[in-house]
Amino acid sequence: MANFQPMRLTFNNRIALVTGAGRGIGKSIAMSLASEGVHVICVSRSASSCGPVAQSIVDNGGQAEALALDVSRPEEVEAAAKQLLEKYGTIDILINNAGITRDGLMLRMKNEDWDAVLQTNLNSVFYWCRALAHPMARKRWGRIINISSVSGLMGNAGQVNYSASKAGVIGVTKTLARELASRNITVNAVAPGFIETDMTADLGDSVQQALLQNIPLKRLGQPEDIANMCTYLSSEESGYITGQVFTVDGGMVM
Ligand code: NAP
Repeated sequence: MANFQPMRLTFNNRIALVTGAGRGIGKSIAMSLASEGVHVICVSRSASSCGPVAQSIVDNGGQAEALALDVSRPEEVEAAAKQLLEKYGTIDILINNAGITRDGLMLRMKNEDWDAVLQTNLNSVFYWCRALAHPMARKRWGRIINISSVSGLMGNAGQVNYSASKAGVIGVTKTLARELASRNITVNAVAPGFIETDMTADLGDSVQQALLQNIPLKRLGQPEDIANMCTYLSSEESGYITGQVFTVDGGMVM
Protein backbone atom coordinates (compact mmCIF):
# COMPACT_ATOMS: atom_id res chain seq x y z
CA MET A 1 0.00 0.00 0.00
CA ALA A 2 2.82 2.39 0.80
CA ASN A 3 3.54 3.05 -2.89
CA PHE A 4 -0.07 3.75 -3.79
CA GLN A 5 -1.97 7.04 -3.70
CA PRO A 6 -5.65 7.33 -4.60
CA MET A 7 -5.85 7.74 -8.39
CA ARG A 8 -6.02 11.40 -9.37
CA LEU A 9 -5.34 12.83 -12.81
CA THR A 10 -2.52 15.36 -13.14
CA PHE A 11 -2.40 18.03 -15.84
CA ASN A 12 0.30 20.57 -14.84
CA ASN A 13 -1.34 23.62 -16.49
CA ARG A 14 -1.36 22.09 -19.94
CA ILE A 15 -2.78 23.75 -23.07
CA ALA A 16 -5.13 21.71 -25.26
CA LEU A 17 -6.66 22.22 -28.68
CA VAL A 18 -9.94 20.40 -29.32
CA THR A 19 -11.42 20.41 -32.82
CA GLY A 20 -15.18 20.15 -33.26
CA ALA A 21 -15.59 21.61 -29.78
CA GLY A 22 -18.75 23.52 -30.63
CA ARG A 23 -21.14 20.66 -29.99
CA GLY A 24 -21.53 17.04 -29.02
CA ILE A 25 -18.48 14.99 -28.11
CA GLY A 26 -15.94 17.80 -28.68
CA LYS A 27 -17.82 20.19 -26.43
CA SER A 28 -17.87 17.57 -23.69
CA ILE A 29 -14.11 16.90 -24.10
CA ALA A 30 -13.38 20.64 -23.91
CA MET A 31 -15.50 21.03 -20.75
CA SER A 32 -13.93 18.00 -19.11
CA LEU A 33 -10.35 19.13 -19.79
CA ALA A 34 -11.17 22.66 -18.62
CA SER A 35 -12.56 21.27 -15.37
CA GLU A 36 -9.08 19.76 -14.79
CA GLY A 37 -7.45 23.19 -15.12
CA VAL A 38 -6.35 22.75 -18.75
CA HIS A 39 -6.47 25.86 -20.97
CA VAL A 40 -8.63 24.79 -23.90
CA ILE A 41 -8.66 26.21 -27.41
CA CYS A 42 -12.10 25.32 -28.74
CA VAL A 43 -12.11 24.97 -32.53
CA SER A 44 -15.20 24.61 -34.70
CA ARG A 45 -16.45 25.71 -38.09
CA SER A 46 -18.63 28.52 -36.81
CA ALA A 47 -17.97 31.09 -34.10
CA SER A 48 -21.60 30.69 -33.04
CA SER A 49 -20.85 27.18 -31.76
CA CYS A 50 -17.28 27.32 -30.33
CA GLY A 51 -17.79 30.85 -28.95
CA PRO A 52 -20.47 29.98 -26.36
CA VAL A 53 -18.57 26.82 -25.32
CA ALA A 54 -15.40 28.82 -24.57
CA GLN A 55 -17.47 31.51 -22.86
CA SER A 56 -19.24 29.02 -20.63
CA ILE A 57 -15.86 27.53 -19.58
CA VAL A 58 -14.60 31.01 -18.69
CA ASP A 59 -17.87 31.85 -16.88
CA ASN A 60 -17.31 28.75 -14.74
CA GLY A 61 -13.80 29.82 -13.77
CA GLY A 62 -11.85 27.91 -16.43
CA GLN A 63 -9.53 29.03 -19.20
CA ALA A 64 -10.62 28.80 -22.80
CA GLU A 65 -10.72 30.59 -26.11
CA ALA A 66 -12.70 30.07 -29.29
CA LEU A 67 -11.22 29.65 -32.74
CA ALA A 68 -13.54 29.38 -35.74
CA LEU A 69 -11.99 27.79 -38.80
CA ASP A 70 -12.44 25.00 -41.32
CA VAL A 71 -10.17 22.09 -40.37
CA SER A 72 -10.44 20.66 -43.89
CA ARG A 73 -8.49 23.63 -45.29
CA PRO A 74 -4.75 23.19 -44.75
CA GLU A 75 -4.00 26.89 -45.15
CA GLU A 76 -6.44 27.77 -42.33
CA VAL A 77 -4.99 25.11 -40.03
CA GLU A 78 -1.41 26.19 -40.74
CA ALA A 79 -2.15 29.92 -40.21
CA ALA A 80 -3.96 29.23 -36.93
CA ALA A 81 -1.24 26.88 -35.69
CA LYS A 82 1.44 29.49 -36.46
CA GLN A 83 -0.42 32.14 -34.44
CA LEU A 84 -1.05 29.78 -31.52
CA LEU A 85 2.58 28.65 -31.41
CA GLU A 86 3.75 32.27 -31.44
CA LYS A 87 1.45 32.94 -28.49
CA TYR A 88 1.96 29.75 -26.40
CA GLY A 89 5.17 28.15 -27.67
CA THR A 90 3.54 24.72 -27.75
CA ILE A 91 0.15 23.05 -27.63
CA ASP A 92 0.52 20.09 -25.25
CA ILE A 93 -2.67 18.17 -25.99
CA LEU A 94 -4.24 17.84 -29.45
CA ILE A 95 -7.67 16.24 -29.77
CA ASN A 96 -8.71 15.70 -33.39
CA ASN A 97 -12.45 15.30 -33.01
CA ALA A 98 -14.11 17.36 -35.80
CA GLY A 99 -16.02 15.12 -38.15
CA ILE A 100 -18.91 14.91 -40.60
CA THR A 101 -21.00 12.26 -42.32
CA ARG A 102 -22.30 12.24 -45.91
CA ASP A 103 -23.90 8.81 -45.94
CA GLY A 104 -25.07 6.88 -49.00
CA LEU A 105 -24.59 3.55 -50.68
CA MET A 106 -21.29 3.27 -52.56
CA LEU A 107 -22.89 2.77 -56.00
CA ARG A 108 -24.62 6.14 -55.75
CA MET A 109 -22.02 8.08 -53.83
CA LYS A 110 -20.80 11.28 -55.45
CA ASN A 111 -17.10 12.20 -55.54
CA GLU A 112 -17.93 15.37 -53.58
CA ASP A 113 -19.33 13.30 -50.70
CA TRP A 114 -16.29 11.03 -50.65
CA ASP A 115 -13.89 13.98 -50.80
CA ALA A 116 -15.67 16.12 -48.18
CA VAL A 117 -15.67 13.33 -45.59
CA LEU A 118 -12.06 12.28 -46.20
CA GLN A 119 -10.91 15.89 -46.20
CA THR A 120 -12.67 16.77 -42.94
CA ASN A 121 -12.25 13.54 -40.98
CA LEU A 122 -8.83 12.30 -42.11
CA ASN A 123 -6.78 14.96 -43.89
CA SER A 124 -7.45 17.46 -41.09
CA VAL A 125 -5.87 15.05 -38.59
CA PHE A 126 -2.70 15.02 -40.68
CA TYR A 127 -2.71 18.84 -40.99
CA TRP A 128 -3.02 19.41 -37.22
CA CYS A 129 -0.51 16.72 -36.25
CA ARG A 130 2.07 18.04 -38.71
CA ALA A 131 1.53 21.62 -37.55
CA LEU A 132 1.78 20.94 -33.80
CA ALA A 133 4.06 17.91 -33.31
CA HIS A 134 7.39 19.68 -33.71
CA PRO A 135 7.11 21.98 -30.65
CA MET A 136 5.71 19.02 -28.64
CA ALA A 137 8.82 17.06 -29.64
CA ARG A 138 11.09 19.91 -28.55
CA LYS A 139 9.31 20.01 -25.18
CA ARG A 140 9.56 16.20 -24.90
CA TRP A 141 5.90 15.97 -23.89
CA GLY A 142 2.70 15.61 -25.87
CA ARG A 143 -0.64 13.88 -26.13
CA ILE A 144 -2.47 13.36 -29.43
CA ILE A 145 -5.90 11.76 -29.40
CA ASN A 146 -7.73 11.09 -32.63
CA ILE A 147 -11.43 10.32 -32.65
CA SER A 148 -12.14 7.34 -34.89
CA SER A 149 -15.36 5.29 -34.86
CA VAL A 150 -16.59 1.72 -34.66
CA SER A 151 -17.43 2.25 -38.36
CA GLY A 152 -13.69 2.41 -38.98
CA LEU A 153 -13.22 -0.92 -37.22
CA MET A 154 -16.11 -2.99 -38.58
CA GLY A 155 -17.38 -1.04 -41.61
CA ASN A 156 -20.96 0.15 -41.92
CA ALA A 157 -23.21 -0.16 -44.97
CA GLY A 158 -23.97 3.32 -46.31
CA GLN A 159 -20.79 4.82 -44.86
CA VAL A 160 -17.99 3.83 -47.23
CA ASN A 161 -16.52 7.34 -47.08
CA TYR A 162 -16.89 7.69 -43.30
CA SER A 163 -15.58 4.18 -42.54
CA ALA A 164 -12.55 4.78 -44.79
CA SER A 165 -11.82 8.07 -43.06
CA LYS A 166 -12.10 6.55 -39.58
CA ALA A 167 -9.99 3.50 -40.49
CA GLY A 168 -7.45 5.96 -41.90
CA VAL A 169 -7.38 7.80 -38.59
CA ILE A 170 -6.30 4.55 -36.93
CA GLY A 171 -3.44 4.14 -39.43
CA VAL A 172 -2.30 7.71 -38.76
CA THR A 173 -2.50 7.09 -35.01
CA LYS A 174 -0.38 3.92 -35.05
CA THR A 175 2.25 5.38 -37.37
CA LEU A 176 2.61 8.63 -35.41
CA ALA A 177 2.77 6.67 -32.15
CA ARG A 178 5.88 4.98 -33.55
CA GLU A 179 7.35 8.17 -35.07
CA LEU A 180 6.89 10.32 -31.97
CA ALA A 181 7.43 7.89 -29.09
CA SER A 182 11.10 8.78 -28.67
CA ARG A 183 9.99 12.36 -27.97
CA ASN A 184 7.62 11.29 -25.20
CA ILE A 185 4.52 12.06 -27.28
CA THR A 186 1.75 9.49 -27.01
CA VAL A 187 -0.74 9.06 -29.85
CA ASN A 188 -3.96 7.13 -29.33
CA ALA A 189 -7.37 6.79 -30.96
CA VAL A 190 -10.81 6.55 -29.39
CA ALA A 191 -13.49 4.73 -31.36
CA PRO A 192 -16.96 5.69 -30.13
CA GLY A 193 -20.00 3.56 -30.80
CA PHE A 194 -23.38 5.32 -31.09
CA ILE A 195 -23.30 8.49 -29.04
CA GLU A 196 -26.28 10.80 -28.60
CA THR A 197 -25.31 13.99 -30.44
CA ASP A 198 -26.56 16.03 -33.43
CA MET A 199 -24.73 13.54 -35.66
CA THR A 200 -27.00 10.68 -34.59
CA ALA A 201 -30.13 12.76 -33.87
CA ASP A 202 -31.72 11.88 -37.22
CA LEU A 203 -31.85 8.13 -36.55
CA GLY A 204 -35.50 7.21 -36.21
CA ASP A 205 -36.88 5.35 -33.19
CA SER A 206 -36.96 2.04 -35.05
CA VAL A 207 -33.28 2.35 -36.05
CA GLN A 208 -32.39 3.21 -32.46
CA GLN A 209 -34.27 0.18 -31.16
CA ALA A 210 -32.47 -2.05 -33.66
CA LEU A 211 -29.13 -0.59 -32.60
CA LEU A 212 -29.84 -1.26 -28.95
CA GLN A 213 -30.20 -4.97 -29.77
CA ASN A 214 -26.48 -4.98 -30.57
CA ILE A 215 -25.32 -2.96 -27.57
CA PRO A 216 -24.79 -5.21 -24.55
CA LEU A 217 -25.03 -2.26 -22.14
CA LYS A 218 -28.47 -1.45 -23.69
CA ARG A 219 -28.10 2.28 -24.02
CA LEU A 220 -26.66 4.77 -26.49
CA GLY A 221 -23.52 6.50 -25.28
CA GLN A 222 -23.35 10.05 -23.97
CA PRO A 223 -20.65 12.56 -25.00
CA GLU A 224 -19.27 12.33 -21.44
CA ASP A 225 -18.52 8.62 -21.98
CA ILE A 226 -16.03 9.64 -24.67
CA ALA A 227 -14.78 12.72 -22.81
CA ASN A 228 -13.85 10.58 -19.78
CA MET A 229 -11.59 8.39 -21.91
CA CYS A 230 -10.03 11.38 -23.71
CA THR A 231 -9.37 13.15 -20.41
CA TYR A 232 -7.59 10.12 -19.00
CA LEU A 233 -5.52 9.75 -22.20
CA SER A 234 -4.58 13.46 -21.94
CA SER A 235 -3.31 13.16 -18.38
CA GLU A 236 0.17 12.59 -17.00
CA GLU A 237 -0.99 9.18 -15.70
CA SER A 238 -1.59 7.74 -19.19
CA GLY A 239 2.06 8.27 -20.20
CA TYR A 240 2.84 4.58 -20.89
CA ILE A 241 -0.04 4.09 -23.35
CA THR A 242 0.51 4.76 -27.04
CA GLY A 243 -0.60 3.48 -30.44
CA GLN A 244 -3.86 2.07 -29.07
CA VAL A 245 -7.47 2.25 -30.18
CA PHE A 246 -9.96 2.46 -27.31
CA THR A 247 -13.46 1.39 -28.25
CA VAL A 248 -16.11 3.11 -26.12
CA ASP A 249 -19.34 1.60 -27.37
CA GLY A 250 -21.27 -0.19 -24.64
CA GLY A 251 -19.72 -3.50 -25.69
CA MET A 252 -20.89 -3.49 -29.32
CA VAL A 253 -17.48 -4.48 -30.76
CA MET A 254 -15.70 -7.22 -28.82
P1 NAP B 1 -21.44 16.78 -34.08
O1 NAP B 1 -22.35 16.88 -32.91
O2 NAP B 1 -22.01 16.80 -35.46
O3 NAP B 1 -20.35 17.96 -33.95
C1 NAP B 1 -19.33 18.05 -34.89
C2 NAP B 1 -18.40 19.19 -34.54
O4 NAP B 1 -17.35 19.20 -35.53
C3 NAP B 1 -19.07 20.55 -34.59
O5 NAP B 1 -18.59 21.39 -33.56
C4 NAP B 1 -18.63 21.10 -35.96
O6 NAP B 1 -18.52 22.51 -36.02
C5 NAP B 1 -17.25 20.49 -36.07
N1 NAP B 1 -16.81 20.43 -37.47
C6 NAP B 1 -17.33 19.67 -38.47
N2 NAP B 1 -16.68 19.94 -39.61
C7 NAP B 1 -15.73 20.87 -39.32
C8 NAP B 1 -14.78 21.56 -40.10
N3 NAP B 1 -14.63 21.34 -41.40
N4 NAP B 1 -13.98 22.47 -39.47
C9 NAP B 1 -14.12 22.70 -38.15
N5 NAP B 1 -15.01 22.09 -37.37
C10 NAP B 1 -15.82 21.18 -37.95
O7 NAP B 1 -20.54 15.45 -34.02
P2 NAP B 1 -20.26 14.43 -32.81
O8 NAP B 1 -21.31 13.41 -32.83
O9 NAP B 1 -19.97 15.19 -31.56
O10 NAP B 1 -18.93 13.74 -33.36
C11 NAP B 1 -17.63 14.13 -32.96
C12 NAP B 1 -16.62 13.14 -33.52
O11 NAP B 1 -16.93 11.84 -33.04
C13 NAP B 1 -16.64 13.04 -35.04
O12 NAP B 1 -15.32 12.85 -35.53
C14 NAP B 1 -17.47 11.80 -35.30
O13 NAP B 1 -17.15 11.20 -36.53
C15 NAP B 1 -17.06 10.94 -34.13
N6 NAP B 1 -18.02 9.90 -33.79
C16 NAP B 1 -19.27 10.22 -33.41
C17 NAP B 1 -20.18 9.19 -33.11
C18 NAP B 1 -21.59 9.47 -32.67
O14 NAP B 1 -22.34 8.49 -32.51
N7 NAP B 1 -21.99 10.70 -32.44
C19 NAP B 1 -19.77 7.86 -33.23
C20 NAP B 1 -18.47 7.57 -33.61
C21 NAP B 1 -17.59 8.61 -33.90
P3 NAP B 1 -19.85 23.47 -35.97
O15 NAP B 1 -20.40 23.31 -34.58
O16 NAP B 1 -19.31 24.84 -36.22
O17 NAP B 1 -20.74 22.95 -37.04
